Amino acid sequence: MEEYIVSARKYRPTSFDTVVGQQALTTTLKNAVNSGKLAHAYLFCGPRGVGKTTCARIFAKAINCLSPTTDGEACGQCESCQAFNEQRSFNIFELDAASNNSVEHIKTLMEQTRIPPQVGKYKVFIIDEVHMLSTAAFNAFLKTLEEPPAHVIFILATTEKHKILPTILSRCQIYDFERMTVRNTIDHLKSVAKNEGISYEEEALAVIAEKADGGMRDALSIFDQAASFCQGNITYQKVIEDLNVLDAENYFQIVDLALENKAMDIMILLNNVINKGFDGGLLIQGLAKHIRNVLMARDPQTLPLLEVSDQQRERYQQQASKCQIPFLYQALRLINQCDINYRQSSNKRLLVELTLIEIAQITQPDDAVGSGRKPRRLKSLFKHLTQTTAQPKKSAPQVAAAEPVAPTQKSQEPASNSSRISNVSNNSSQPNSSIKAGRPQLKSTVSLSWNNLRQKSKAKKMTIIPGTLDASDPNVALKDEERSFTQQDLELQWMLMCNRMPPEYSGIATRMKNMNPSITEFPQVEILVDNQVAMEQMEQIKGSITATLRTYLLNKSITITLRQAERHEHMRILSRREQFQLMEKENPSIAKLKELLNLELA
Ligand SMILES: [Zn+2]
Repeated sequence: MEEYIVSARKYRPTSFDTVVGQQALTTTLKNAVNSGKLAHAYLFCGPRGVGKTTCARIFAKAINCLSPTTDGEACGQCESCQAFNEQRSFNIFELDAASNNSVEHIKTLMEQTRIPPQVGKYKVFIIDEVHMLSTAAFNAFLKTLEEPPAHVIFILATTEKHKILPTILSRCQIYDFERMTVRNTIDHLKSVAKNEGISYEEEALAVIAEKADGGMRDALSIFDQAASFCQGNITYQKVIEDLNVLDAENYFQIVDLALENKAMDIMILLNNVINKGFDGGLLIQGLAKHIRNVLMARDPQTLPLLEVSDQQRERYQQQASKCQIPFLYQALRLINQCDINYRQSSNKRLLVELTLIEIAQITQPDDAVGSGRKPRRLKSLFKHLTQTTAQPKKSAPQVAAAEPVAPTQKSQEPASNSSRISNVSNNSSQPNSSIKAGRPQLKSTVSLSWNNLRQKSKAKKMTIIPGTLDASDPNVALKDEERSFTQQDLELQWMLMCNRMPPEYSGIATRMKNMNPSITEFPQVEILVDNQVAMEQMEQIKGSITATLRTYLLNKSITITLRQAERHEHMRILSRREQFQLMEKENPSIAKLKELLNLELA
């Protein structure tokens, strides 16, 4: 049986021309070989697996070749070249400083520099990961580097250029190796696949290239793994399973759904992803990358920055044509925020859900998201509820979804007051003035559709929190629904409700976030309130809380009991981190200060 050789070794380039993705650099090296103008020391910098050692070997062979080609490549035929090919050349020494970094190792190596080569002109010393040398070893090496014999050439390689001391840098000719692009990697994998008689889907190779993150050696070893897993036919589906990669299709779907404001569908998608064993944080990171790609795909100038297969490129362009820039910016900002908070969050899933919901609401017409200093508030997940209770709506949504900015508006501000008014379908018949005549304390912060609903209720029995529903409003009359909901649904809707409450209510809203409603006997919800003052406030808004939960949880039978906590039940004492998070919520500049001073919570 034929010996199996891993692809990374089998397809290791043996000439400058076969090195992948470093053309500028190999051309310079070839010119050096051709002209015979050689430095005493070279420093090859760059990420792992991009061909530093390979290039060093090719270079060593070429400068020792007795009859190099006019192009600057080794002939491969002469005595020296054959010695190199058979790995018995005495003109090349390699030291991996990562594992042999003691002063003894270096001293033994430096002994060799004194003896001139028997065949060929130069002895080449390749020191890999040179930044790993110990101080003593380093000093021993520096002595030789300062006055090297004429027949000695050093090639130092490192993945961490910043760790190389100036004394070395100043004595070396420096070459920066580029990260392998996904495109280059795909092309190389294709040629390997062809040679090996392996069939493939280009998408699958793109996943491998992506996973290898710029390293060809990694790409080839993943390729080997995939080839054996897929038994000679590398398909996209098998590769993402094997490599535990989340299908890019998910990201395309999330963006499509977000543009249509289908938050609930995204929740279902998220649930499926999590059920498949993927982490919510991973999804968020992947989504960030995806949206960045969509952003790049919008402009022909940035299109080359997209590191994907040709097929996917088209897909990205398609999606990009549907997305407005403000949507993409805002989505990236939300994702970034989620990413920052993710590690600290005690309910990571909820954080991811909230973020995705917010993204799904960016293009929603009565949008307050991102418009200047106005508070960011979450809107109804069940859009149809508020809309079906009002007049039949116009066919606005499809257009509105793709066009977050009202056509009359030239600026990139996603939603100003004027665009909100023109876009809120329920409001089209209502003149602006009637809204202004409403409760003055509410008018600036209330999203108009809620306000509009409230206009119609004459009787004012209770305080109505903006962003919640008025129980006495006939328009909020529920369909006869009694859907079941879980504790998690309840907590999610509770949090969303708290988040919708405007600044005037921030005090009670913050308290409410700590209240943890629980289902005592379905559909009874009990809310534990920690003191008398809070109890009085809660009594006032109980009706509207009830109505809100009934509506959003689609269950008209929900009842709410407020119970003052016993002493032992008092709200759990907040940890320092939680206290900070609370403070941060009330005053965002604290977070800025923390960042500015680079503080950590002890
Ligand atoms: Zn030769």
